[in-house]
Amino acid sequence: MIHGELHQNVRQYINGRWETSATTGVSANPSDTSEVVAEYARADRRQAEAAIRAATEAFPHWSHSTPQRRADVLDRIGTELLSRKDDLGMLLAREEGKTLVEAVAEVARAGQIFKFFAGEAIRSGAGGGGGENVASVRAGVQVDVTREPVGVVGLITPWNSPFVVPAWKIAPALAHGNSVVFKPAELVSGCGWALAEIISRAALPAGAFNLVMGSGREVGQALVDSPLVDALSFTGSMANGERILQAAAARRAKVQLETGGKNALVVLADADLDRAVDCAVQGAYFSAGQRCTASSRLIVESAVHDAFVAKLRQRLKTLKIGHALERGVDIGPVADEDRLAQDLTWVDVAREEGAEHVWGGEALERATAGHYMSPALFLAKPSHRIAREEIFGPLACVLRADDYDDALALCNDTPFGLCAGICTNSLKHAMHFRRHAVVGMTMVNLPTAGVDFHVPFGGRKGSGYGPREQGRHAAEFYTTVKTGYMLA
Ligand code: NAD
Repeated sequence: MIHGELHQNVRQYINGRWETSATTGVSANPSDTSEVVAEYARADRRQAEAAIRAATEAFPHWSHSTPQRRADVLDRIGTELLSRKDDLGMLLAREEGKTLVEAVAEVARAGQIFKFFAGEAIRSGAGGGGGENVASVRAGVQVDVTREPVGVVGLITPWNSPFVVPAWKIAPALAHGNSVVFKPAELVSGCGWALAEIISRAALPAGAFNLVMGSGREVGQALVDSPLVDALSFTGSMANGERILQAAAARRAKVQLETGGKNALVVLADADLDRAVDCAVQGAYFSAGQRCTASSRLIVESAVHDAFVAKLRQRLKTLKIGHALERGVDIGPVADEDRLAQDLTWVDVAREEGAEHVWGGEALERATAGHYMSPALFLAKPSHRIAREEIFGPLACVLRADDYDDALALCNDTPFGLCAGICTNSLKHAMHFRRHAVVGMTMVNLPTAGVDFHVPFGGRKGSGYGPREQGRHAAEFYTTVKTGYMLA
C-alpha cells in the first residue's frame, strides 16, 4: 500500500498565528503502522493559557459582529469542507482508521453542520437580537428576553469522530458570537489541524478561534481550570467527564458533557429479521464499534433469538475487515495499539465470565501491519461486564428477553442513556418504546448509529450533562439569557 502525504506543519493556532511548541508528537496510520500521518506540535500549559487570553481579548469584537458576518464565515468553512470531503476524508481514514466511505461521509456532515449554523447565525441574530417581547404584568412596562453569547468557550473532543464532533461544537459557538479554544484528541491531531487551517482562512478576527493540540492532562486541564473560560463543552469518556464536571462546578463555569453509551437495539419477534440484522451489523460494528451511539447490547425476544443469532453470525462471516483505504472493506482497524489490547482483553473477560462465544474477537493479520480485529459476538447475561460497561470497540452481546416488557426493562437497566433502537412491525410497541426508553435519542427500524445534523444530539443519565448539542437547541449552551425591563 502506498503511503499518503505526511503532514509536517501541524502547529498550534493562537491569536491568528501559527506557532510551534517545545515538543512534538506523531500520529500513525492504524491500518499501516509504518506510515506516519502527521508530526504535530504539542502545546504546553503556557500556550493553552496564551490561547485563552487571545480568545478573551477577541470576544468583545467577535461577540458584536453582525449576524451576516458570522454567517459568511461559517458558510465559507462549510463550503470548503464539502468541496474537499474526499481529500479530508482520506486524511481521516488514514489517521483514525474509519473506512474511506465512512470518513468522506463524516467530513461532508461536518460541512453541513457549518452550513446549518451559518443560517442559524442569521435566524437567531445572537448577540442581542432574536429574543421575545413579552407583555409585562405591570402597566406601562415593556419586557423583552434576549440571548447573548456566553464568552470564551473551551471545546475538548475525542478521537473517534475528529471532524464532526469538533464541527458540532465550533460552529454553534462561533454562530452565537463566542470565542473558541479548541483542543482535539492527540491521536487525531492532523484532522484537528486540517479543520483549524480551514477556519484560519475564513476571515475571523485574530483570537476568535484558537487551536491547541496536546495532552488532556496538561492542555485540556488548563482549559478546565482557567477562570477566563466561561463554558466547557466536552465529549469523551465518562471518567474524564465526571472530573471536568466537578472542576467546572467548583468555579461556576457552564458545562456540557457527552460521555459514552451502552446502547441497546431491541429486536422483537414481529421484526423483519433481515432488517434487524442490518441494523445490528451497522450499529454495533461499523466504524469498528468506536462510536458513542454503537449498539453494543442486542436485546432479542426469545421467540426469534436463535434465528436472529444464526443470521447475524452468517453476516459477520461475510464482513471484510482490512485497510481503511481498500475498496470494499466494511470495517477498518481499531484506532491504536492500546485500544486493540483493550478490546482483546474484553474478549477474555467475556469468556471468563461465562458468556457464550458466537463469533470473532481475534486479532487479524493483513498485508500491512495494523490494529485489526474480527467483530466479536457473545451471548451474555445482563450481569456480565460486557453487557454493562462501555467497550468502544467491535464487540457486541446478545441478551435474551422474554417479551417486549422484559426487553424494555433490560434496555433501561444501564447507567448510560444515549440512544436506543427497536426493530418491530408493531406500531403500539414502537410508540411505547419511543416514550419509555430512558435515553436522549430513539430509533425505530434504524441503526442506533447515524443521526441527522440539524436536530438535538445527546443523552441522559451517565451519557450526558447539560443542554443538548446540534440544531437550534445548541443555543441553550452557547448563549445566556437576559431579561430587560423598560418603562414605556
Ligand atoms: P477521553 O475522555 O480519553 O478524551 C477526550 C478528550 O478529553 C481528549 O481530547 C483528551 O485529551 C481530553 N482530556 C483527557 N483528560 C482530560 C482532562 N483531565 N482535562 C481535560 N481534558 C482531558 O475520551 P476518548 O478516548 O478520546 O474518546 C472515547 C470516549 O468518548 C468514549 O467513552 C466515547 O463514548 C466518548 N464519545 C462520546 C460521544 C458522545 O457524544 N456521547 C461521542 C464520541 C465519543
